[in-house]
Amino acid sequence: MTVAPPRTVLDNRFARELPELALPWRAEEAPRPRLLVLNDALATELGLDPAWLRSDDGVGLLVGTAVPGGATPVAQAYAGHQFGGYSPRLGDGRALLLGELVDTGGRLRDLHLKGSGRTPFARGGDGLAAVGPMLREYVISEAMHALGIPTTRSLAVVATGREVRRETLLPGAVLARVASSHLRVGSFQYARATDDVELLRRLADHAIARHHPAAADADHPYLALFEAVVAAQAELVARWMLVGFVHGVMNTDNMTISGETIDYGPCAFMEAFDPATVYSSIDSGGRYAYGNQPLAAEWNLARLAEALLPLIDEEQERAVELAVASLGTFRPRYNAAWLAGMRAKLGLPDGLDEAVAGPLFEELQELLHKDHVDHTSFFRTLGAAARGDAEPTRLLFLDLAAIDDWLARWRAIGPDADAMDRVNPIYIPRNHLVEEALDAATAGDLQPLEKLLEVVSAPFDERPGLERYAAPAPQDFGVYRTFCGT
Ligand code: AMP
Ligand code: MG
Repeated sequence: MTVAPPRTVLDNRFARELPELALPWRAEEAPRPRLLVLNDALATELGLDPAWLRSDDGVGLLVGTAVPGGATPVAQAYAGHQFGGYSPRLGDGRALLLGELVDTGGRLRDLHLKGSGRTPFARGGDGLAAVGPMLREYVISEAMHALGIPTTRSLAVVATGREVRRETLLPGAVLARVASSHLRVGSFQYARATDDVELLRRLADHAIARHHPAAADADHPYLALFEAVVAAQAELVARWMLVGFVHGVMNTDNMTISGETIDYGPCAFMEAFDPATVYSSIDSGGRYAYGNQPLAAEWNLARLAEALLPLIDEEQERAVELAVASLGTFRPRYNAAWLAGMRAKLGLPDGLDEAVAGPLFEELQELLHKDHVDHTSFFRTLGAAARGDAEPTRLLFLDLAAIDDWLARWRAIGPDADAMDRVNPIYIPRNHLVEEALDAATAGDLQPLEKLLEVVSAPFDERPGLERYAAPAPQDFGVYRTFCGT
C-alpha cells in the first residue's frame, strides 16, 4: 500500500535569510532504519500524520534521506565558549536542520536531526550518535516539556542499523528534534566574528521576528532583543533550579535565543540536594554545577552582549554601557522567577512578605543540604504535610528538631496543598531509571523506555503501582556520572 505523502512542506527560511550560517548538506544513508520511538502527539501538532511517519518514506524523512522537494537541509554554523574557552568554529558536526514547518497552531518550528552523519563541521568526530544518548535526549526533553519547562521537543528516534564506535561498539541512531529555532548565543558569536555587521543585523532581525517580535517596536530593537533573551533565560534557569535539573554543559553554543532548553547531553536531575552537584564526567571544575547555573547563564549572556555590541551603538563605550545595564536585569529577573516558583512549591500566597519568605527558603535549603534530602521527594511529600501528615516529610530528615521547627513556621502561613501538588512533580526521569531503560533499549527491549516515558509524561498525577518511579536511586546505584561526546 502506498501511503500519501505529508501535506507538509519544509520551508528553508533560515537557509534563505542567513546563507552565511547555513551549509547545504545531506544526511548519510542509514543501512537498516528502524523506528524506535515516535511522538504521535507532537507529530499531530506539527501537521504530520503519525501513520505516514511510520512508513518507509516517513522514516526516510526522520533520518533525513528522503526530504520533500524544495527543502534545503543545512548544517548550521556557530561558534561557542566551551567551558570558558572560545572555539570560533563549532557548527553542526553531526546534525542537520531539515527546515521549518508551520504547526497546527500557526507557529514556525525547526525540524532538525542529530546523528545524521559527518558534516564539514565534524572536526575529529564521526558525525554519529548512539541509540542510548538519543533516547536519553528523547525521554528527558519530553519530561521537561511535561513539567512545563520550555524545551526543544523530540519527535522520533530511528536506529540506523549502523554501529557507532564509542568505548565499545554501539547501535547508531538519529534523533529527530523540533525547536522553535536552533539560534544560539554561539550563532551570534559566529556572525560577530565575521566582522560583517550586516550579517549580524540580519541574524538579529531573524531572531526578533521569530522569538521576540515586541523588540521590533522598541526604541532600541537590538537592545530590546538582548533584554528579551536575558528575561527568557532568567526564567528558564529558575525553572531548572526549581525542579533540580542540571544541564551539565551550558556552553554558549548550547544556550538558545528562544529560551528553550537545548542539547541534552550529560544532563541529569539532582536527587540529594546539594548546590555542588555535578554529573558530567568532563566538568571536573564544577563550572556547570547545579548551584552555578544562574551564574553560568549570566556569563553566557555577557558573551551574547559582546556579540551584539556593534548593533547596540556605533560608539563602543556607549554600547558597553547600555549592554551592561541590560545584563543587570538578569539577577532581579532570575530572583523574582525563583522566588515566585519557590512560593508556589511551598503553597504560599503570592503576596507573602519577602521578609518572611526569604529566610524560610534559605533555611530550608540549608536543611535539605545538611541532611542530603531527595529534592523531588521533599517537595512532593510536603503536600501531605500541608494536609496534616508530616511523617513522609520527616522520614527524609535526620535532624528532626530542625525540620519540625521549620514545618511549624511554614504551616502557620497556611499552605495550599492542592496548589502544591500541581507544581511539585512526583515523577521525574530519575537517573537510575533512565539508565535502566537505555540499557534495555540498547539491548533491544524498548518496554522499560516506553513505560518510563508514559510515567514522566504526567509528572504531577500520582498513580497507583508507580511507587518505584517516585523513589530515589537505591544506595547501590552509587555516584552517577554522565558522559559528553554522546
Ligand atoms: P555538543 O556537546 O553536543 O553540544 O557538541 C559540541 C560540538 O561538537 C558541536 O559542534 C557538535 O556538532 C560537535 N559534535 C559532538 N559530537 C560529535 C560527533 N560525534 N561528530 C561530529 N561532531 C560532533
Ligand atoms: Mg550543542
